[in-house]
Amino acid sequence: TIGMLAIDSQGNLSGACTTSGLAYKMHGRVGDSPILGAGLFVDNEIGGACATGLGELVMRTCGSFLVVELMRQGRTPQQACEEAALRIVKKQDYKDVQVGFVAVNKQGEYGAFSIQTGFNFTLSQQKETRVIEARSYLK
Ligand code: ASP
Repeated sequence: TIGMLAIDSQGNLSGACTTSGLAYKMHGRVGDSPILGAGLFVDNEIGGACATGLGELVMRTCGSFLVVELMRQGRTPQQACEEAALRIVKKQDYKDVQVGFVAVNKQGEYGAFSIQTGFNFTLSQQKETRVIEARSYLK
């Protein structure tokens, strides 16, 4: 999945995501990317989140919606991404698959977390762009 979250100079949030292409694509499978609340969710009052990885696990937890709701309850984007990913690890006991979340809140703070290593995201602020490796459950 390619997910994108943006915050403009007035603090308005937006987001978009695409699905991966061939990964997990059995005939007729939709995946989480086109389902609001699963692969992507944005609430302009709170923040936005995108997910990548095994979409069935993201759909079962309403993953991106969960991340935004956790931010609504006061978690930082980092804390919210971690809690949503760890819910998948703990409740569903899936440690050998990848799910990652990236999030931004209304203040422009961001976070990301994945189950496996290797989940990178790109941060663009003003004129600077850099690639950051997300923290992960498995080191
Ligand atoms: N989340 C996508 C899906 O399950 C796969 C991906 O992350 O590329 O369809």
